[in-house]
Amino acid sequence: MIAIPQRTIRQPVTRSGIGIHTGTSATIVCQPAPVGTGIVFVRADLPAAPEIRATLDAVSDTRRGVTLGGRTPVRTIEHLLAAVAGAGVSNLRVEVHGEELPILDGSAAPYVEALAEAGIVDQGGQRPLHTLDGPVWVVKDTAWVLAVPADHLRITYVVPLPATRLGTQVVDFDLSRHQFADEIAPSRTWGFAHELQALRQAGLARGASAANALAIGPEGYLSPPRFPDEPARHKVLDLLGDLMLAECVVHVHIIACGAGHTLHIELAARLAGSPPRAGEA
Ligand SMILES: [Zn+2]
Repeated sequence: MIAIPQRTIRQPVTRSGIGIHTGTSATIVCQPAPVGTGIVFVRADLPAAPEIRATLDAVSDTRRGVTLGGRTPVRTIEHLLAAVAGAGVSNLRVEVHGEELPILDGSAAPYVEALAEAGIVDQGGQRPLHTLDGPVWVVKDTAWVLAVPADHLRITYVVPLPATRLGTQVVDFDLSRHQFADEIAPSRTWGFAHELQALRQAGLARGASAANALAIGPEGYLSPPRFPDEPARHKVLDLLGDLMLAECVVHVHIIACGAGHTLHIELAARLAGSPPRAGEA
């Protein structure tokens, strides 16, 4: 029987910076939290400091990022959640002084560093573990995500980059063989340069710059990438963060093609709804 411990951080840690969509500055303070808390965001800048627990039910927007909460939202949570997933942390209180989490360098690496600085501690309880009896999938237009039974988490991500010289990228990330912190966390947010104007008109990407995003044009990358397949690695990062909203550990092999947050969240809901493995919840 596999027992997966609940974990939190040893001491508070703070990070500040602008949000990639709002372009406004925010500070977050990650605090240790007791067993069973889950990941809870607190709008510490508002009167009464409303709390939003990071669950699938709390998701209110999945366009180019994940927003939780309605009237008092917290935006772009996925890169912190990916770092939290990578560290195996399950209980955390995240005080946000602002509406959107700092984008920092566009990757999860600064959050991985922050959690390591805070220290990770095992707690008493165990985390629920979900797996599958057979395949499940979600589809939207030409994008799809399939999950099949497995004895640990593996993610194979296919990213078609049409009309660019980059072609199609494939990353196969297997938690039993690869290191999240070195191979996935440093990959940055990316986007097509020709879409930037439209995103800004839609009120998104107002804080995007070469300091926090990798732009892609018809000829390929517009600045040096950290990995030749950085966009596909970043999709794995986003998916790991989004899966945290299922509030369980999943042992499945996920194969995704051309997907994004909307399909990730739909798949997470399917996995969360699958019965826990007997005797381990
Ligand atoms: Zn991302």
